[in-house]
Amino acid sequence: MTRRILVTGGAGFIGSHYVRTVLGPQGPGEVSVTVLDKLTYAGNPANLDEVRRSPRFSFVQGDICDAELVAELMAGHDEVVHFAAESHVDRSIDGGAEFVRTNVVGTHTLVDAAHRAAVRTFVHVSTDEVYGSIAEGSWPETRPLRPNSPYSASKASSDLIALSYHRTHGLDVRVTRCSNNYGHHHFPEKVIPLFVTNLLDGRKVPLYGDGGNVRDWLHIDDHVRAVELVRTKGRAGEVYNVGGGTELSNLELTRLLLDACGADWDGSVEYVADRKGHDRRYSVDWTKIRDELGYTPRRDFVTGLAETVSWYREHRAWWEPLKDRAAW
Ligand code: NAD
Repeated sequence: MTRRILVTGGAGFIGSHYVRTVLGPQGPGEVSVTVLDKLTYAGNPANLDEVRRSPRFSFVQGDICDAELVAELMAGHDEVVHFAAESHVDRSIDGGAEFVRTNVVGTHTLVDAAHRAAVRTFVHVSTDEVYGSIAEGSWPETRPLRPNSPYSASKASSDLIALSYHRTHGLDVRVTRCSNNYGHHHFPEKVIPLFVTNLLDGRKVPLYGDGGNVRDWLHIDDHVRAVELVRTKGRAGEVYNVGGGTELSNLELTRLLLDACGADWDGSVEYVADRKGHDRRYSVDWTKIRDELGYTPRRDFVTGLAETVSWYREHRAWWEPLKDRAAW
């Protein structure tokens, strides 16, 4: 029987890759997808061109905070995969109101409607940032949440609200907390696409502080596979960390990106004031999803990064109009 999945934020970077994948040749086949997306500056209808003609695809432009619309949509769906969010930490430092509205109020609107419509499964996509910084080692799912930015605090709040609907009402909520994603179709405000598109244009790249902040990098193919494992085999009320297996400082990442674009350090790197409250290092322990659901990251970072850089080289028409939108 076809499962009808409501995918929020499906016009964004990760959500659109999820939709293209589940409706693509490697997808499970027995699913149909409705994307609910407000099309903010980060949402791009072109990300869904590949699936637009599929009879199993439909698109609704709308806000996850719109309770009436959400209730109406929820009634026709069996499952929800929730990606929609304000996702850029720097913007949340500039002003957190939209982060609280979309990430907290929007998630509540969705889980409440999912509960009332007796939806079977609700996958809430969250982030490793909710745990806060860690100097050494990796946080397990049981670590109390200590978010530091308005973005991560809004995501932590949304995790707790989603999980409260499991504990209180028995709604089958599953939460994923992944590390930094990279790949094609990534909006050019985040570090990898920002640096690559600047370098392809012969411009400088802004490196925060001393460049010593460390992140774990996860290819979108691996992340989407993890989300599908959680949707199809995960357990209700559980949280699953998702790691990528490649930990790099921003200095190391910048060096790789300069090499990939054929640029030199002195002519291309501009040190800028550090991000306020910049978390030094994130790291999640993903033993649970490996042991329970058989997940391991498959994409090798060097190959994945080279493919990503090639994609940006070949898709100027996709990112050039977005460079203006990325400025705020
Ligand atoms: P993105 O910014 O590329 O896409 C977000 C999408 O949500 C956009 O299409 C936007 O139009 C839509 N949206 C925003 N507000 C909305 C609203 N009120 N109603 C309906 N739609 C709305 O984000 P992304 O990088 O694809 O991230 C997807 C999810 O993964 C987010 O929940 C994010 O917190 C999480 N996440 C991302 C990363 C990463 O590295 N990108 C890492 C960890 C977790």
